[in-house]
Amino acid sequence: MNKQERIKLILQYFEELFPHAGCELIYQKDYELVIAVMLSAQTTDESVNRVTEKLFFDYPTLVALDAAPLSEIENAIRTIGLFRNKAKNIKGITKKLLENFSGVVPADKNQLMTLPGVGNKSANVIRAEIFHIPEIPVDTHVHRVSKRLNLVKMDDDVFVTEKKLRGLIPKDLYIKSHHQFIHFGRYFCKARAPQCAQCHLRSICKEPNKNL
Ligand code: SF4
Repeated sequence: MNKQERIKLILQYFEELFPHAGCELIYQKDYELVIAVMLSAQTTDESVNRVTEKLFFDYPTLVALDAAPLSEIENAIRTIGLFRNKAKNIKGITKKLLENFSGVVPADKNQLMTLPGVGNKSANVIRAEIFHIPEIPVDTHVHRVSKRLNLVKMDDDVFVTEKKLRGLIPKDLYIKSHHQFIHFGRYFCKARAPQCAQCHLRSICKEPNKNL
């Protein structure tokens, strides 16, 4: 089976498993997504949602976040990893959005990547989620699943993986399928205990016996 046939099979299966996969970070305003995405580095969306609900309620505007003392922001997010650094990033993001972008989240990737804590993957998430620009953000789940399903080499880095997936997945499916890759990695093909016994992709998987 060649790669095109493999990706077709994979996307069909993901559609069966996760027809409604979407972003699991909760936000109301564009800048809230930017902050939530930055906070989600090396932690779960669930733990981010737990702190942002109160954070965005207590500081309901960019101006309010900008005016808040750093120590208060640290306190508000202290249950998540790297909270001191992330609190600084919240302050940096709000200041930069207010001073450089008139309080509006930019769609341009290079401009997004000037915001503290926003790298290539986060910029892709923001562009896909807010602006519906076809991007394939490669997080830890997308990367692991792509390797196991032999879409990329085991030693490919995230940038190579992103490029290869862009060449394999139809452009109009970039956003939806990236959510489906994440859901498959998060809930089914987990890092330590994948559900291989139930998986319909065993025949094309490079690591199919982990849990059999
Ligand atoms: Fe993941 Fe197991 Fe399926 Fe391979 S067989 S894709 S490791 S769940």
